[in-house]
Amino acid sequence: MSCEKYEQMISPYVDDELSDKEKEELEQHIKDCDKCREELQAITFMRNIMSNSEQKLVTPPSKMKRRIYHHIYRDLLIMFAGLVIIISMVSISGGLAQLLLFSRIPVGVRTLFIAGIILLICGLIVLLYDIFIDMFKILKKNK
Ligand SMILES: [Zn+2]
Repeated sequence: MSCEKYEQMISPYVDDELSDKEKEELEQHIKDCDKCREELQAITFMRNIMSNSEQKLVTPPSKMKRRIYHHIYRDLLIMFAGLVIIISMVSISGGLAQLLLFSRIPVGVRTLFIAGIILLICGLIVLLYDIFIDMFKILKKNK
C-alpha cells in the first residue's frame, strides 16, 4: 500500500479518530516506514504545542491564581483586623469611662468591657497571624 493513504490517516490517528483496525494498520506501517513515522512525530509535536498554548490562553497558571487569591484573602484579613481593633477600642474606652465615672458598675457595661477585651485579643491574634505568615514566607524565600 502506498504512503499516501497512511499520510491521510496520521492526523486522525493523533486525534484518536481511527478505528482499532485502522490504528493497527497504521502502526504496522509506521514500524517499517521512516517517512510516515517522521510525519507522525511532527504532527504529534505540533498538536502538543497547540494544545499547550491554548491552555495557557484560557486558564492562568495556578501559581498566579493562588497569588491573587492570597492577596484578596490578606486584604480582607487586614480589614477585618482593623475593624475588630476599632470596635474593641471604642467599647474598651466606653467601658473605662463608665468605670471611672460610676463606682457601681452595671452588668451591661461590664459585659461590654469584657467583650471589648475579647475582641481586642481576637483582633491582635488575626493581625499577628497575618504578620507571621508573611514572615514565614520571607524566611522560606531566603532559604
Ligand atoms: Zn509510509
